[in-house]
Amino acid sequence: MTDLATQPITTLKGVGDKFAQVLAKLHIATVQDLLFHLPLRYQDRTRVTPIAALTPGLDAVIEGEVRAADVVFGRRRSLLVRLQDGSGTLSLRFFHFSAAQKNRFARGVRLRCFGEARRGSAGLELVHPETEILGENSPPAEDTLTPIYPLTEGVSQARLRGLAQQALAMLDSGAVSELLPTELLPQAMRYPLAAALRYLHSPPAGTDLAQLAEGQHPAQQRLALEELLAHHLSLLALRRDTAHLRAPALPGDPALERDFLGRLPFSLTGAQQRVCTEIAEDLASSHPMMRLLQGDVGAGKTLVAAMAALRAVGSGTQVAVMAPTEILAEQHRRNFLGWLDPLGIRVAWLTGSLKAAERRKQLAAIASGEAQLVVGTHALFQADVLFHHLGLVVIDEQHRFGVRQRLELREKGAGEAGSVRVQPHQLIMTATPIPRTLAMSAFADLDCSVIDELPPGRQPINTVAISNERRDEVVERVYNAVTQGRQAYWVCTLIEESETLQAQAAESTADELAAALPNTRVALVHGRLKPDEKERVMTAFKAGEVDLLVATTVIEVGVDVPNASLMIIENPERLGLAQLHQLRGRVGRGSVASHCVLLYGTPLSQGGKARLQALRQHSDGFAIAEEDLRLRGPGEILGTRQTGEVQHRIADLQRDAHLLPQVQRIAAAPGLSEGARQQLIARWLQNKPRFAEA
Ligand code: ADP
Ligand code: MG
Repeated sequence: MTDLATQPITTLKGVGDKFAQVLAKLHIATVQDLLFHLPLRYQDRTRVTPIAALTPGLDAVIEGEVRAADVVFGRRRSLLVRLQDGSGTLSLRFFHFSAAQKNRFARGVRLRCFGEARRGSAGLELVHPETEILGENSPPAEDTLTPIYPLTEGVSQARLRGLAQQALAMLDSGAVSELLPTELLPQAMRYPLAAALRYLHSPPAGTDLAQLAEGQHPAQQRLALEELLAHHLSLLALRRDTAHLRAPALPGDPALERDFLGRLPFSLTGAQQRVCTEIAEDLASSHPMMRLLQGDVGAGKTLVAAMAALRAVGSGTQVAVMAPTEILAEQHRRNFLGWLDPLGIRVAWLTGSLKAAERRKQLAAIASGEAQLVVGTHALFQADVLFHHLGLVVIDEQHRFGVRQRLELREKGAGEAGSVRVQPHQLIMTATPIPRTLAMSAFADLDCSVIDELPPGRQPINTVAISNERRDEVVERVYNAVTQGRQAYWVCTLIEESETLQAQAAESTADELAAALPNTRVALVHGRLKPDEKERVMTAFKAGEVDLLVATTVIEVGVDVPNASLMIIENPERLGLAQLHQLRGRVGRGSVASHCVLLYGTPLSQGGKARLQALRQHSDGFAIAEEDLRLRGPGEILGTRQTGEVQHRIADLQRDAHLLPQVQRIAAAPGLSEGARQQLIARWLQNKPRFAEA
């Protein structure tokens, strides 16, 4: 029996070297690859539907006799063919047609058509259907469903279908290896691999199209499980590949940590303590930590980062703390200075906007090791930034978690010591909670810690949704809050990515509010301000010298001003749930009751309504993330939709989330051999380059 994994695609009839190159774009190199190139969906051309039984909006095959074919001149010239079967009549409509085509449709000719029925001006119509003239010996309708494959330029559906049929003819059991031991499969999924592939490439007539479309057929579930397993295994392999890497062991300095904790005005929460211990254990080892720290907005992640930093500094190495925005980096600088300066620790500062002379000075301090902790933006990782002895990298508010980004981060600060590769420990922090099952699969290459407790004394945020038609009431509400000595945010949202447009919108809102609110100190912050201006505004707001801060979503993450207790979010329907939760997390950080007003535009879409409702109902970030997963799917949550990184052939992380516990169980089973693991990864991921980089 030939293993089809070793059969080049050129063994199929009609595939030469040139066409093989086209197929390579679809990651098809072997006959097995072709078999795992699964249809996206199906058409049912097995049954002829009587015209009277057609349902608008659905594809169908009909057969009938041409009664008339006329060119009509409506809004656009078109060819209208009247077709009749025993049950009724309908029209075929063609906007593009040649004289020869028109002549084909002579009265009395019998046609078979395939297309989607729609309601048109002349009753039910098929617009540009596929048509075939029926003769004496025309074959009956197809006997299997018609697969629709993902394509690339230079390959047609018909050609791929032909190739798939050839490959299926070579598919006896054994021709594709059954890599999963049967006993590891759940009972319902003990579906032979060859049978599953055969079924999915040509489902027999009578197959329930709806069940297939929902991915619920056992053959689909069997393959989805295998695919999810392959992705999971590839991340585990990635993790194993780093096993030989070395990092400086950081035992820390207990006296320094005691000193630090003693100066804090509060004590760590239980969750913070637990997470600090987990991190400390990682840091003490000479294997690089790769840990993801999740904690809801306001859970106190910065303090945990500071404890980790102390451990590195106390062990004589440097720490880099990277924030996604200048505003956040500036806030961290202030926090870390306030905490560490009294302990005699030198804090440096590096962002893209430093003047050349200042930048040189900071770079020198970093290179000499004089600077023990460096706070900055991504500018920290430019090529000319050389650390003296980097022990720990902390990345705050990391939103995008693609495997590729993680690999890149891993490379930062890595170096050689003799023949061993040395790299710093890494702590990645996020306030975007990721549902547990999803996290375990998507981040199988990372360790995860969760701060699942807020500092004591937090008041829940009261969230209301008010239509923009009642804007005046909301402005009055801001006025009342401000006259009572409270501070407020007014957040302007725009869908456009353009910072200029966003800035303009925020500027005019700030003007409008300043005019409407006498005796109120209104300030404005947006992405177009110079960094030192941004800093000035944020410092003034933090110091209570500004009552109302009008802002774009630049304040989305991390900003921490406990006295601010009211937030207005304009047009919240434009944002996703996770982003709204982040924004709202800017209030409710102190001990006074906070309020968030979602000032929405009308009319509100169904989706918008559902998001605002979810936000009003839930205050817990994990509950919101589950809701977000339900409403939007995993790509949005993992930030991978834009990068297109997690692309499955048959599995759908959201639909098949219930398979993930099985995936983890099978991956952990000793019954799955090393060879099988590697072959599974190769079969499903075709050794895509992103994993080769590891
Ligand atoms: P996030 O997890 O959103 O980054 P921060 O680190 O900004 O949260 O912390 C939010 C606020 O809670 C800060 O003002 C911080 O000083 C305060 N905080 C952190 N830990 C504690 C604690 N154990 N007790 C009381 N307040 C705390
Ligand atoms: Mg934070």
